[in-house]
Amino acid sequence: MEYRYTGIILNKRDVGETDRIYTIYTLEGGKIRSLAKGVRKPQAKLAASLENITLADITIIRTRGLGKITGSIIENNFTSLKRDCDALLETFAGLNIFEKLVDFESSDKKVFLLLKEYLEVVNECSLSENIEKHIIIRLGFIVKLLDALGYTIEVDNCVSCGKKLAQDFLCFSSQQGGAICQHCANGNDSCVLSVRTNTIKMLRLFLKNKIQSLTKIKATREDCDSVCLVVDDFLRWTL
Ligand SMILES: [Zn+2]
Repeated sequence: MEYRYTGIILNKRDVGETDRIYTIYTLEGGKIRSLAKGVRKPQAKLAASLENITLADITIIRTRGLGKITGSIIENNFTSLKRDCDALLETFAGLNIFEKLVDFESSDKKVFLLLKEYLEVVNECSLSENIEKHIIIRLGFIVKLLDALGYTIEVDNCVSCGKKLAQDFLCFSSQQGGAICQHCANGNDSCVLSVRTNTIKMLRLFLKNKIQSLTKIKATREDCDSVCLVVDDFLRWTL
């Protein structure tokens, strides 16, 4: 059977003499793996259209197992991103978490469009924006992805008692799934992080806006580091 996919190449791994197994996030089938035969031979044309971080129309012939990639037509190569080393490192970090969070063969149009938008936005910002901007976009992407997958971070009310959060003193409990008030934090001595007010504000902005709008957020390196700490901690509880 021949299948056509719109997919984004996440990863590749050499196998055998000249073959590769690709991990692709597709609109039609979610995360899939497939084999491309002879793709490491010098004259192989298919390799160029199957580079990591490429949006392509991909043809796969499969009856069972991994199947075989027989064609790929590039839709977006994200060229600026690939010429910006710092942005590329940030993006690989984002894609690495993405790959761990999404299951195989569980298609989700919202997740596909989020991934596509993320790559389009980082591509637009590459070669012009500072590294903080790329960190913000990556963190925003992860928080929005977690939300789309059902792991929403609670940042409006205390995740423990449900009361509205005060502005001056904020804590975060990944174990409970979000921000907690001073009263609940006092009775919960382990696994609670003290966080800056700006951290919770940024998490709210991530959840309420499209990735494109996150490029307008102005944040210091300290704010980025603080959000990074919270997101990494939350991921440890989730993954
Ligand atoms: Zn509370």
